[in-house]
Amino acid sequence: MTTTVSDRQSGTKNHTGNHSTERPVVVVGTGPAGSMAAWLLARQGKKVILLEEHASVGDPIQCTGILTRSVLKATELSEQDIDSVTAFVAKGTWVYAPDGSHADIPLKGDYVVYRNAFDAMLARRAETAGATLLLRHRFVGIDKDTGEVLVEKKGAAATEGVAATGRPQISDTSAHRSAILRIKASALIGADGPRSLVAKAAGIYERDDLPGGAGMAGKRAFVNAPQTVVRHKHKGIIEFFPHKEVIAWIVPEGPDTVRAGMCTYGNPAEAFNAFQKQYLGNDYRARTIGHQGGIIPVYNPLLRTETVVRPADPGAQTGKTPSPGMRVLLIGDAATQVKPTTFGGIIQGATAARCAVDALIAGDSYERRWKKALHADLAMGLRLRHAMDTMSDAQFNKLIRLCGKPRVARIFRDHDRDYPTQFGLRLLAAEPRLLFLAIKMFK
Ligand SMILES: Cc1cc2nc3c(=O)[nH]c(=O)nc-3n(C[C@H](O)[C@H](O)[C@H](O)COP(=O)(O)OP(=O)(O)OC[C@H]3O[C@@H](n4cnc5c(N)ncnc54)[C@H](O)[C@@H]3O)c2cc1C
Repeated sequence: MTTTVSDRQSGTKNHTGNHSTERPVVVVGTGPAGSMAAWLLARQGKKVILLEEHASVGDPIQCTGILTRSVLKATELSEQDIDSVTAFVAKGTWVYAPDGSHADIPLKGDYVVYRNAFDAMLARRAETAGATLLLRHRFVGIDKDTGEVLVEKKGAAATEGVAATGRPQISDTSAHRSAILRIKASALIGADGPRSLVAKAAGIYERDDLPGGAGMAGKRAFVNAPQTVVRHKHKGIIEFFPHKEVIAWIVPEGPDTVRAGMCTYGNPAEAFNAFQKQYLGNDYRARTIGHQGGIIPVYNPLLRTETVVRPADPGAQTGKTPSPGMRVLLIGDAATQVKPTTFGGIIQGATAARCAVDALIAGDSYERRWKKALHADLAMGLRLRHAMDTMSDAQFNKLIRLCGKPRVARIFRDHDRDYPTQFGLRLLAAEPRLLFLAIKMFK
């Protein structure tokens, strides 16, 4: 069955409360990036449809939920908002070296949030501002002839709306029936995570037009990131292990519960088991109460994040004037906008969402906007990542020892690690022996 989404179904009210005839912006994905974009558009009176393939926002959880205080500015959420979804506030982190020593680094108070509650809060805000949220609606492609966005509606009953718990307000009792909806959109925002189907449908998932042809430069790369929730008495701080595979962590969730995770380039099973045995105890399996792993993209600034899809058959359009085409923008994990050092991407995705919305409203380049906002820090992170990936144990021991010096630790505390370009030179000035790392980064 194929249905066209009418203005009435898809429409949001504009500032004057009228349903306008403008085409909606379709946002795919209710992760932080998608809900942020939907909210920013809706609050400016734009018609927005926010799609989520799952039956509720925020599940399944695939995240540790560590957020620096920059989240407040990036999302415009209040401290009370964030507090309401916070499991733990971290005032310090221990960063371990291979020799077992650690650097004790104070933090301004990082939030460790419940991602499902955090995501539900952002989606609810978008909906309250006027976005139409459609749960159990999966983006499946773009009609090449008409340029319409194709959406599979799972089950025929309406599942719109997100209740306070993040659950759908209307339960869907007809899950077996599904339909394809066709939406004429002015723009399509792919906030659909690391394996973005929007990017694939728009032909910008990867590229083979770079010098050297279809080499690795234009490919997407990922880290595997298994994570468990385990009953374990923790130290009341975040523990990072930058020498364990790509990075590993133990993060408090409750008084006697932690989220333990690891990023690896290869199969994580063996290394992650060994890590958990070493730091959580041989019987960690018996105390494991949840699994929250996923994959995380490695930042690749060579990939395209923006294109225009034009209908191949203009006669198939119903409008009299030829369509200017539909802008397609990728944000968040779909655009690989993730810190290559710790693989956090929530704040970066929210920042990219703002750039995307500003670019749509101003009618200018999204890519130029997000690169200005994010690229320098992500590129610096990429250099740091390459340096760390090739560091010997002895070099790690030295790095952690130097980072533990009070004058260096203070710089980490006072400058947000989401923006490493702001404190790179300060670190060097405080501890010139860190020059070895700078040399490794720029080799
Ligand atoms: C184990 C782990 C730990 C992490 N820890 C942290 C951390 O501590 N801090 C941090 O900042 N980041 C962390 N990250 C990274 C962070 O989770 C991501 O960067 C962030 O979720 C990206 O947000 P997003 O909105 O771009 O995409 P996602 O959060 O991936 O959201 C994508 C959404 O799109 C939906 N979707 C996908 N395809 C479709 C489709 N075809 N149709 C409709 N809907 C679709 C999905 O269901 C999902 O809801 C972690 C990741 C992992 C795996």
